[in-house]
Amino acid sequence: SLAVAAIPEGLATVVTIVLSIGVTNMSKRNAIIRKLTAVETLGCTQIICSDKTGTLTQNKMTVVDHYGDDETLLATAMSLCSDAEFDVNENTAVGEPTECALVNYAQKLGLDKNVQKTQLVRIGEVPFDSGRKMMSTVHRDENGSLIQFTKGAPDEVLKRCSKALVGNTVVAMTDEIRASILASNKAMADQALRVLMAAKKELDAEPAEYTPEAVENDLCFVGLVGMIDPVRPEVKPAIDECRSAGIRPIMITGDHKDTAVAIAMQLGIITDASQAITGAELDEISDEDFETAVEKYSVYARVQPEHKTRIVNAWRKKGKVTAMTGDGVNDAPSIKNADIGVGMGITGTDVTKNVADMILADDNFATIVSAVGEGRRIYDNIRKAIQFLLASNLSEVLSIFFATLLGFTIFQPVHLLWINLITDCFPALALGMEKPEADVMNRKPRDSKEGIFAGGLGFAVAYQGALVTLITLASYLIGRYWLADLHHAAAIASGAYSAEMLGTSMAFLTLSMCEIFHAFNMRSLRGSIFTMKGQNKWLWGAGALSLLLTTAVVEIDFLCNAFELAHLDLMEYGIAMGLAILIIPIVELVKLIQRQVEKKKA
Ligand code: ATP
Repeated sequence: SLAVAAIPEGLATVVTIVLSIGVTNMSKRNAIIRKLTAVETLGCTQIICSDKTGTLTQNKMTVVDHYGDDETLLATAMSLCSDAEFDVNENTAVGEPTECALVNYAQKLGLDKNVQKTQLVRIGEVPFDSGRKMMSTVHRDENGSLIQFTKGAPDEVLKRCSKALVGNTVVAMTDEIRASILASNKAMADQALRVLMAAKKELDAEPAEYTPEAVENDLCFVGLVGMIDPVRPEVKPAIDECRSAGIRPIMITGDHKDTAVAIAMQLGIITDASQAITGAELDEISDEDFETAVEKYSVYARVQPEHKTRIVNAWRKKGKVTAMTGDGVNDAPSIKNADIGVGMGITGTDVTKNVADMILADDNFATIVSAVGEGRRIYDNIRKAIQFLLASNLSEVLSIFFATLLGFTIFQPVHLLWINLITDCFPALALGMEKPEADVMNRKPRDSKEGIFAGGLGFAVAYQGALVTLITLASYLIGRYWLADLHHAAAIASGAYSAEMLGTSMAFLTLSMCEIFHAFNMRSLRGSIFTMKGQNKWLWGAGALSLLLTTAVVEIDFLCNAFELAHLDLMEYGIAMGLAILIIPIVELVKLIQRQVEKKKA
């Protein structure tokens, strides 16, 4: 009962400690786990839906291109219709990255926002909203004249332009002008630039109310700017890693489709523009049709937060374990619906962070992928520790069971307590520290419905437990029936100890060390431990400590007496250890056969 009672306790302790260490490791790598169950789910992740700006890209924007006849007016409109401010001490703009790029752009052209905002004082505004994709501000100059600037997504602002600035003249918008604006927009977007349009409106009087309907109409096109937002250098390798790990990366953005396609192609998310769809196109598709079509798309552009919920639901209906990133308040429902809701540590709102399962301290896509790898490693290590503990405990139970059937007592309670404490717990914990196996991100995601005993773990526990039992019983019998007579006839005759005690000593040393050697087997459940790169220093430490303490118990007389064991001489010690080490070649052989069978099946 001691051996059986130790099983749940040992398992619970080891799993808790391994999980805690894993979660700490993840947080060191910028992935903060808010819900412990997320660690297991991370290992099963099949789809990662990620925002573009800031997660795949650096969110460090710089204006590199423009279109329009009056660049000074274009830059002034962009700068004054922004909430970013120019910090003279830092010599750069501070605020939201898109707006900082616009203020810095004007500054480079010699248009100082700090001066301009006193000449054209902002008297009212309609703030930016990602649904409308634009913002407007109204300014009064020194003479009392009023002017409105509107900036935003070109496709949206252009819909509200009835005029255009051509040269120095305001002319009526024509199909030709519209076509040339759209062509410039596309040319910039195709170079992966984020494009913004500026428009103006001369006002006779201040608007009666600052609402989009009252203000954002009858505008005059001024120009376009194209800004670069470089992709994060670590994202491309992370996407390649996703591919080899059987994970599908999906880009979701409020940005223009052409910009999104260009960046997604750069990153290897898609190979063809037909794999991209806009939010407006998505609105045309029913939920049922979208569920069948969802596999076609890897880029979603010009989306609203509600689209993210549809995307996550469609993938989940397909049975795919889906991670979804989000930052804004409106992203909360999609984050909540996802299997792994991922909040942004830097740009995220508290609402999204509070519903997220994991928070990225650096807002970086690559961190999600490394967290998936860590999730897989932790799950692997828990399986290794569980297999080790169960096989070890089974061998204890079986040894006692068969010994009892054969009519002898193989172990005393103190021996089992020692084995459970010293040779089970330490190595199991050390297995929890095992580094990821080389193929951890080269295999497909685990099936989330798969139990912990899947993949032959139950069989492995049974045969390994039986094997250790056989070796232990053999050691007992060799000690009791052969070595006792050979080396200890005098001690036995004098009554110092019995032949059974020598058998128990041999079995004790063999079982203890067999478990230690077996822990090394468990460094990989399928692979050979001889081809593994790197060493587990914790396991070596646990092994050395267990070896030292167990050797002391069978070699130091007063400890032998306390444990009711016979002192082992060198030959007996060698035989017991030799028997114990047999577990390594036998388990290696079984793993080799299993690998060959799997290869043949594949
Ligand atoms: P992502 O979803 O990847 O973060 P995004 O920043 O483009 O992409 P939103 O913030 O929803 O998504 O912005 C939608 C669009 O609104 C942008 O593509 C851009 O055209 C426009 N836009 C963004 N910021 C501003 C702003 N400060 N003022 C005016 N228009 C803006």
